[in-house]
Amino acid sequence: MTGARRFLGLDIGGTKLAAGVAGDDGRLLSREVIPARTEDGPETVIERLVAMGRRVVDASGVAPSDIAATGVSCGGPLDIRTGIVREPTNLPGWIDVPLVARLTTDFADFLGGGPVYLENDANAAAMAEHRYGAGRGVRNLVYLTISTGIGGGVILDDRIVEGESGNAAEIGHMSLSHDGWPCPCGSRGCLEAFASGTNIAQRARDRLAAGEPSSLAALALDTITSGEVAEAARAGDTLAGEVWDDTVRVLGAGVASIINLFNPRLVILGGGVTGVGDQLIAPVRRIALERAFPSMAAEADVVIARLGADIGIVGAVAAAQARLADAA
Ligand SMILES: [Zn+2]
Repeated sequence: MTGARRFLGLDIGGTKLAAGVAGDDGRLLSREVIPARTEDGPETVIERLVAMGRRVVDASGVAPSDIAATGVSCGGPLDIRTGIVREPTNLPGWIDVPLVARLTTDFADFLGGGPVYLENDANAAAMAEHRYGAGRGVRNLVYLTISTGIGGGVILDDRIVEGESGNAAEIGHMSLSHDGWPCPCGSRGCLEAFASGTNIAQRARDRLAAGEPSSLAALALDTITSGEVAEAARAGDTLAGEVWDDTVRVLGAGVASIINLFNPRLVILGGGVTGVGDQLIAPVRRIALERAFPSMAAEADVVIARLGADIGIVGAVAAAQARLADAA
């Protein structure tokens, strides 16, 4: 035994469950992803998660007793102090589930009693980019994930900002227009309700339904994605180009506000919508740095996330590592 620590990372998403084992460097020794099928209810989903956790530990070659801690990344709202999942928007029917207590019991005869830590998924992803990704060596950063929704995590002085219960940095629900477009959260003008992948596609659909001409009209209206809007914009389509330009303007304004709020060295953008790379990052960086306070803009940069599709698992590992260090 070299003394290197190993961690089990579990990721509960709305569409998939993922698990893996990693060492202190965040590199995965094993991984597995299965459909979440959340409609089966928390009881069944947790059983699947526990079984998968056991399988990835076995597949990693690490002795179960060498797992120092387990991290669980899950959508909020949740409470990291009590380990209770409150009522995540992406997990219907999960109301006040005592996830940490349950996993601690279920793993007791297998992992040898290491702690289990619950973390908000976007905060976990921020911790992963900080420890192992684009934010390595950076003391102050903000991570923003732009996918079906928009989530965020803030690292200040090398520590995640948790807030009272671990739900801080709901950047997607920063209101940019006080009487603007309605958001399912109950507020108006939220960043997510305009610039998430879901809403980029929805704005294009609304205009197509109103009869505006576009190359997107050749696609099935219900299934248009933000990626198709981006592609049509690149090809010169006017409608798609306008939807995309509106998107990067709003994201740029949001990132400028983030820079003014936190004075970060880096704003890291991740999530499915950032898959288009420079088509998103370049204008968002330009607009954000133009709009933020010049002194803080001069210290900041906007970059793309480095950890890919496994960020949920790696985030859970990063959270376990950080919380274990805090407990020591
Ligand atoms: Zn909102």
